[in-house]
Amino acid sequence: MKGAPGSAAARSLRDKLAALGLARDIDLALHFPLRYEDETRVVRIADAPDGAAVQLEVKVLAAEVEVRGRRQLRVLCADAGGEIELRFFNFYPSNLKQLVPGAQLRVFGELRHGWNGLEMVHPRYKAVADGAALPDTLTPVYPTTAGLSQARLRQEIEAALARVDLSDTLPAADRAGLHLMEFAQAVHALHRPLPGETLENLDLRLKPARARVAFDELLAQQMSLRLAYAERRARRAPQLAAPGERVAALCAALPFRLTAAQQRVWQTIAADLMLPYPMQRLLQGDVGSGKTVLAALAALQAVESGWQAAIMAPTEILAEQHYRKLAGWLTPLGMQVAWLSGSQSARQKQAARAQLAGGAAHIAVGTHALLEQGIAFERLALAVVDEQHRFGVRQRLVLREKGDSATAPHLLMMSATPIPRTLAMSYYADLDLSVLDELPPGRRPVLTKLVSAARRDDVIARVRAACAEGRQAYWVCPLIEESEALQLQTALETHERLAAELPELGIGLLHGRLKADEKSAVMGEFAAGALHVLVATTVVEVGVDVPNASLMVIEHAERFGLAQLHQLRGRVGRGASASVCVLMYAQPLSEAARARLKVIYENSDGFEIARQDLQLRGPGEFIGSRQSGEPLLRFADLERDAGLLDAARDCAVRLLDGAPEVVAAHLARWMRGRDAFLKA
Ligand code: ADP
Ligand code: MG
Repeated sequence: MKGAPGSAAARSLRDKLAALGLARDIDLALHFPLRYEDETRVVRIADAPDGAAVQLEVKVLAAEVEVRGRRQLRVLCADAGGEIELRFFNFYPSNLKQLVPGAQLRVFGELRHGWNGLEMVHPRYKAVADGAALPDTLTPVYPTTAGLSQARLRQEIEAALARVDLSDTLPAADRAGLHLMEFAQAVHALHRPLPGETLENLDLRLKPARARVAFDELLAQQMSLRLAYAERRARRAPQLAAPGERVAALCAALPFRLTAAQQRVWQTIAADLMLPYPMQRLLQGDVGSGKTVLAALAALQAVESGWQAAIMAPTEILAEQHYRKLAGWLTPLGMQVAWLSGSQSARQKQAARAQLAGGAAHIAVGTHALLEQGIAFERLALAVVDEQHRFGVRQRLVLREKGDSATAPHLLMMSATPIPRTLAMSYYADLDLSVLDELPPGRRPVLTKLVSAARRDDVIARVRAACAEGRQAYWVCPLIEESEALQLQTALETHERLAAELPELGIGLLHGRLKADEKSAVMGEFAAGALHVLVATTVVEVGVDVPNASLMVIEHAERFGLAQLHQLRGRVGRGASASVCVLMYAQPLSEAARARLKVIYENSDGFEIARQDLQLRGPGEFIGSRQSGEPLLRFADLERDAGLLDAARDCAVRLLDGAPEVVAAHLARWMRGRDAFLKA
């Protein structure tokens, strides 16, 4: 029974719906079935195939709550030809009231052979009268939440469908041009299978309906991201002068020449910075493609025009490495580079703060510490975020707010986790993209070897040989994600064991629990060649750059993700000597681990690895913290619907240009009020 509006029952229903993101009628209409089940037929227990989802019609013979072991409700049932036990591990008094001897039930679930014969665990059931008619259509099954039954949710959706306006937001011409089904028709098709339809022909019939919904979703995403882009572009930014003498001086002082790709991207960035609105650029470049120097050049351009720049990196090690590099490049040119990190003393921070606020420091390099409230810039023109996927939308927002009141700083985001094209086109449609698609010359490809953990001695011999030739090695400890304490212990043990196995070598240890100055001391010794081997947890994953290291050993490589393995492998192959990455694995390998190792073994191109990673895992992992509050696509699948994505982008551009009222209506339908998150 439905409670009166405002009653406790109505409120609790509303809360449950809200937990599913269903506030308005249109949200309910867009809450599509996960799958469909066939309740149009009843199967006899004796005829039911093992493991199949079937519907039975049974009478309850006995029911009891078992308290030994795991508490459960066991219900013995029978039809004319057989018996079956229903088992419930979560149940309510209402279940006990319904499941009494003599009750007639239709149960739907997966049938299997358990210890005590045939059973179904947590079947859906309903009490029926003898001879009650069977439904004549397939039953939609919706994503739901605890305490909200399918039946209740279905009712709510039906009611919403009866009230809601499903008129098409797409102009007829666009729809026809794209051969898309009408919106209302698609929505109804998805919720309401036709009488007599089977699961097989349903799938085929729903194809155009699914395509229409996927298209609309992609279109909404394109519209909202492009609007966010346009909104940011409408703000004013410091308009910088063209790169001048000091930029030229830095280029001349570098020990290398920029690659053609670096030249090209640098020109794009320099031109962006000369415009009166904020740059919003994502620079993608594979591991080692040389992004840092571009950040330095851009920062220098800002300083030349009398402004400041900030460069933020996600880890202390990486930020410090940037600081050293930038200070090394820029101090000789008369620049003041300030360093800010979470582990600094209050006095050090205070000094850096004063330098930045007073304009004495031209460039700030640091970790999240840059975001702290007390950090203000006199004239911030450019913010660079390295390894941007490690930061969230909110953090970007905060950094943006560090500009002066009249302008928003230019934003350059850098990422070494290549993003597949479809993903970039969809989730990153609010950014301009640049790609460094060339590695500096002289890099030799890293040779990847898969070695069973049983051959650890061979690996040790390889480390010994490399170090005897004056090179250095990383040894990455097994990843233990579940427990930081265990991770630490593993790191200590690995270090101890290696020190015993390789007594003639200097072996350092780097892990997340070290204090910042300890980390930086170890890193410094390794960079200076005073340590031969660096045993490390994944703290070395991002950005660390020690060209003399030519051997990377990863223990239990099967536990790491593809992006992580690619990043780790990218730590070597940076100098002139041939590099090797040894992936040690332990048997037995899971299917998924085997697939990952195969991808990393066969590919060196980060973009290809990312594409295959997307196929293996779906998009959620890629967008990381970016997804917080931001709509992940619910219906569109970027691989399957790549064609629709192109069409949606073109359509969004067209409508934003010529039909703002259509855009508004479409976004109102799809965005559930989440567009606030898209402003960052
Ligand atoms: P990433 O893109 O992974 O951040 P880095 O900026 O750390 O790469 O650069 C990797 C290494 O390549 C650094 O040692 C850097 O000094 C060097 N490097 C950058 N550009 C060039 C170039 N054009 N020629 C040679 N070496 C370069
Ligand atoms: Mg980098």
